Amino acid sequence: MKNKENILQDSFGRQHTYLRISLTELCNLRCTYCMPAEGIQLSPKSHIMTYDEVYTLAKTFVDHGVTKIRLTGGEPLVRKDADVVLRKLATLPVELSITSNAVIIDRFIDVLKECNIKNINVSLDSLNAEKFKEITRRNDFEKVYKNIMLLINEGFNVKLNAVLINGFNDYEIIDFIKLTQELPVSVRFIEFMPFDGNKWDKEKMVSYAEVMSHVNDNFNSGEVIRLQDAPNDTSKNYQIKGYKGTFAIISSVTNPFCDSCNRIRLTANGKLKNCLFSATEADLLTPLREGQNIEPIIQKAMRSKFKIRGGMDTLKKLEEPKFHSQNRSMITIGG
Ligand code: SAM
Repeated sequence: MKNKENILQDSFGRQHTYLRISLTELCNLRCTYCMPAEGIQLSPKSHIMTYDEVYTLAKTFVDHGVTKIRLTGGEPLVRKDADVVLRKLATLPVELSITSNAVIIDRFIDVLKECNIKNINVSLDSLNAEKFKEITRRNDFEKVYKNIMLLINEGFNVKLNAVLINGFNDYEIIDFIKLTQELPVSVRFIEFMPFDGNKWDKEKMVSYAEVMSHVNDNFNSGEVIRLQDAPNDTSKNYQIKGYKGTFAIISSVTNPFCDSCNRIRLTANGKLKNCLFSATEADLLTPLREGQNIEPIIQKAMRSKFKIRGGMDTLKKLEEPKFHSQNRSMITIGG
């Protein structure tokens, strides 16, 4: 690791070792909380990082201390050369992982194994095919469920991400937890977060406290085990006694975990986001194409990182569209 200038440390002393790279703005689902109903303005193809550029940028971050890379999107696997990107990144000394909606992941089992990918996060917001269709605007529940089983059987560590929406899928909290009785998966309930165009409303969000209230109404206190969270973990982890899997809550809205944040994001069009909620971005792709040294640009971007949620340090600020709509929509950030 070069790291002599510590360019990935921010002004609060947080060292960033985890890079999430969005490979594409395209997706084969249309999740209502992620993609605005009117669609998005896609970047011109020439503004999207090529696989060589993804690799070069990723390597720069790895040279400065990144040890973990997660690929996301859009749907990372709809990118035509997803296999090439995976193989190139697999040559870096990092833990490589991927977040996918699993619609076509069955075609990638061999390449995922070849690239030594062990941890796969899959979005699944409902266990009911009709609800799944309503939220994703696509009829792919059976395919996704089958592919989740395939991933488990093939030995991957699978986390299922469910964004909870009040009155829509919150009645499934216990069904999701019961899934972990026999399946060795981690179900993660994500608090619905506000981004540009996703019609977020506080009333639609199911909080950490509300999830735990459902849990405590359905299980005896002795059955609910609070697990030790990993360092830099964004989730609060639990297990029901005797169950094979676990469950967790990601509470970015009601209990942000910014103090231990070690994450940075690279968008498909080569912009560095120092925080999921940041309104500002640093273009790395243009200077890279111009042959400039991008390290000072990265350093400057990291030094300008806010302490909490891109400067929306109170729930009140996060709730205000004038703040959160300055950010991109999630489909072009990558979760
Ligand atoms: N296509 C992949 C997938 O479906 O997992 C990767 C991209 S998706 C944007 C990454 C994650 O962001 C998913 O788990 C999704 O549920 C989450 N996400 C998107 N919009 C969100 C929102 N408004 N609040 C909370 N999580 C959100």
